[in-house]
Amino acid sequence: MRPLDETHDPGLASWVESANRLDADFPIQNLPFGVFARDARDPGRVGVAIGDWILDLSAVHAEGLLTGDAEIAARRSSVPHLNDLMRLELRYQRALRAQLSGLLRAGSPTERIPGLADRILIRAAAAVLRVPAAIGNYTDFYASVYHATNVGSLFRPDNPLLPNYKWVPIGYHGRASSIVVSGTPVRRPSGQCKPADAAAPSVGPTRALDYEAELGFFVGRGNALGEPVALDDAADRLFGICLVNDWSARDIQSWEYQPLGPFLAKNFATSVSPWVVTLEALAPFRTEAAPRPPGDPAPLPYLTGTRPDASAVDLTIEVWLSSDRMRAEGRAPMRLSAGSARDLYWTPAQLIAHHTVTGCNLQPGDLVATGTVSGPTSDSLGCLLEITRRGASPLTLPTGEQRAFLADGDEVTLRGYCARAGARRIGLGECRGVIVGAPAR
Ligand code: MN
Repeated sequence: MRPLDETHDPGLASWVESANRLDADFPIQNLPFGVFARDARDPGRVGVAIGDWILDLSAVHAEGLLTGDAEIAARRSSVPHLNDLMRLELRYQRALRAQLSGLLRAGSPTERIPGLADRILIRAAAAVLRVPAAIGNYTDFYASVYHATNVGSLFRPDNPLLPNYKWVPIGYHGRASSIVVSGTPVRRPSGQCKPADAAAPSVGPTRALDYEAELGFFVGRGNALGEPVALDDAADRLFGICLVNDWSARDIQSWEYQPLGPFLAKNFATSVSPWVVTLEALAPFRTEAAPRPPGDPAPLPYLTGTRPDASAVDLTIEVWLSSDRMRAEGRAPMRLSAGSARDLYWTPAQLIAHHTVTGCNLQPGDLVATGTVSGPTSDSLGCLLEITRRGASPLTLPTGEQRAFLADGDEVTLRGYCARAGARRIGLGECRGVIVGAPAR
């Protein structure tokens, strides 16, 4: 378990002033890890976001400011991935968090070391951020029953929610090589589609490009092949979370998905936010899953722990859209939705217990995503497929433009945050991607 401690105290302030704004995503209570570089040629190394700045963890280590378990953890910070930190036992991660919190606290002796801030902080706006882990494997689940029901009703009106849904967490093995960091443009993919009124399929750029607003979990300590992770231990196998945009080509998907599930419709790009918010930072926002409706089956024993499963996260994910024309006219992005990860049918611990029940080995840096986070209301739908009912009810943008699906030049931004009374709000930052046209053929 990850207990609450003094690092979560909502009264803590930092000598890094921008971290103290009430709407800051990265206050001193957050301390998320990422990989940053000073320019495109720099391979990058581990940093910690604090306000508008990045704390260079190897520089902090070189200054001799860390001791004990925290010093051991920080030795792993000069590489361009978080995998070596992720694989550590929890006590190292907790020690590092506690000492970084102490170093950054207003009034800390470090605040008065001459020239120190210039040596250990770099302005986030001046840095290049990278995919935070070497992701060996990526799995995407389908954990929102609202999303599953809405999508099912569009693809199979007579049979929306398949009978296995409430028994087995549905997922598929995704593509790790095409995971890109926020800000990377996404090229419109081509593929094979068969419109309902066409006699035969054809190939060409997708005409139904969509986003999916999701939450991703990075695996920390993995499990050995052949050794399932029990539900009670599952949350402690997770290192932290990020935002995930699982870009999807709906026309490719609808033609290819039966009988083996998504393939090319989702393998061309998946965007992730650069900062990994740790399970330690999320401790004030951990919660039990929303109760199941009466009549739903109880989860099978391997999906039920011996103690309450508080691995769900009370977190809001927002989706914002801006078109080329909106930006040219100086208009602000339009918010399309706000969904809550509390509405998911399966908890993160259940997803991990299910993923490993066969003995499948998860490894440090693996990414496990929830699937589209949709809620029960019309303003909490996490993809355009649901919002526009597969294009039947297009959106109208502030410019008067219509959208059934994404157009070239559209920029989708996901934002995520946790907020509740008695805790300091923390954010995940953002996950952005702009659509660029398919290459001329
Ligand atoms: Mn997905």
